[in-house]
Amino acid sequence: MTDLKDRLKTRLAAEGPISVAEYMRVCLSDPEAGYYTTQNPFGRDGDFITAPEVSQMFGELIGAVCLAAFDAMGSPADVQLAEIGPGRGTLMADVLRMASLRPDFLEAACLNLVETSPRLRKIQQETLCGGPLQPTFRSAFQELPDGPLLLVANEFFDALPIHQFIKTADGWRERQIGLSDTGDLMFGAGTARLPDDAVPHDLIAAPEGAIVETQPTANAIAEEIGTRLADHGGAALIIDYGYLKTTAGDTLQAVYRHAFDDVLVHPGEADLTAHVNFEALTASAIKGGAFALSPMKQGNFLVSAGLLERAGTLGAGKSQAEQERIRDDVERLAAPDQMGDLFKVLAITGQEISFPPFDSAV
Ligand code: SAH
Repeated sequence: MTDLKDRLKTRLAAEGPISVAEYMRVCLSDPEAGYYTTQNPFGRDGDFITAPEVSQMFGELIGAVCLAAFDAMGSPADVQLAEIGPGRGTLMADVLRMASLRPDFLEAACLNLVETSPRLRKIQQETLCGGPLQPTFRSAFQELPDGPLLLVANEFFDALPIHQFIKTADGWRERQIGLSDTGDLMFGAGTARLPDDAVPHDLIAAPEGAIVETQPTANAIAEEIGTRLADHGGAALIIDYGYLKTTAGDTLQAVYRHAFDDVLVHPGEADLTAHVNFEALTASAIKGGAFALSPMKQGNFLVSAGLLERAGTLGAGKSQAEQERIRDDVERLAAPDQMGDLFKVLAITGQEISFPPFDSAV
């Protein structure tokens, strides 16, 4: 048994059950044994492969969309380019390769990476050294310098703690993690009955056993991004897996060595995520004062942004095997049964602007 599991059991025995949000927070961010503190999750050797690790085409197309946003912002003389949760720095390296086609953009931009893990900062620094812009590291979004902002976040929001509520015969309760009779971690329902406004209004009447999730941390960050963009101008691209309409369902999941895992079995060793509620995220950004462009499915977004053309250029003159690999990568990123439909792309803007491939405002 891991040290973190031991510590959790001792804590639960002493203090009683904890919320799903607290469990996620401890598993991912414990300073000694949290997943992002200790593991090397990304890439082909890690627990999961994120889109930028699948292919350079993903980051390059995000870069092209950032340039379109920069133009729609009126090409400001100074812009803060920033990423939250940059992983290995791969996405930003690819964004910068595309951005290098626009010397006026490079001239205007300062690069900021918002990353809490010292270990990941080191990897990001190595990935980006030799590139056209060198990063300044920030510990929180609030530390970004003033001025127009171009922000990207890929698979960042899914790692933020969610709460789960379960409908019991006697009303809604917080879903918690406690100890079973045999001393194992187990899910249960809190003893306090929740006020009805704890649960999204449309779901209050859900049947017994239904699970509903809320994402207060993600929403608070989206609202802050919205306020910042409204005050200083700019745009944010948020890419993650999730759903477009608020609905009931348990989306908490653990991934351990490329396979789905029981959420309670490997605390700190398995990646723990939940699907992002894009309806709530969009509403929070708008509450913060920003505008939003209708979220697109990742597949439609990438194809509209030029995925097939980019694949053609990348494959030109390459070996058969290399061309096949590029075709596989296109499938992986954009096919509806792979990442194409589950992942969504949301653009938030400070002014009422729009840019391709988005075609309508919320
Ligand atoms: N965007 C990357 C990695 C996604 S994993 C990719 O697409 O490959 C989530 C990232 O968010 C990691 O870099 C993790 O260290 C970071 N992270 C998690 N919680 C964070 C927080 N509160 N503030 C900043 N970064 C955080």
